[in-house]
Amino acid sequence: MADNKKNKRNNRNNNDSDYNPRFRKMRKKVCPLCADKNLVLDYKNAEQIRKFVNDKGKILPRRATGACAKHQRDITLAVKRARQIAVLPYTAE
Ligand SMILES: [Zn+2]
Repeated sequence: MADNKKNKRNNRNNNDSDYNPRFRKMRKKVCPLCADKNLVLDYKNAEQIRKFVNDKGKILPRRATGACAKHQRDITLAVKRARQIAVLPYTAE
């Protein structure tokens, strides 16, 4: 009885024997630009581009944006263009 309880606790929501808590099951991120075909990146649209940079003005990595390789390249280009025309800052302070 007591044994059974303990076992249940250790095996919560997973039956894999090689369970490693460092690699928890994560929801697969879907590329925001692939998900919405009508969404077109515009480097003049500061509101849109700002989503892809952190508060320091750095471009977020793919693991944060969830973008696919193709769209991450587009994002990078858009951010760099936006910086060039002073829509976005190169750096904060
Ligand atoms: Zn994509």
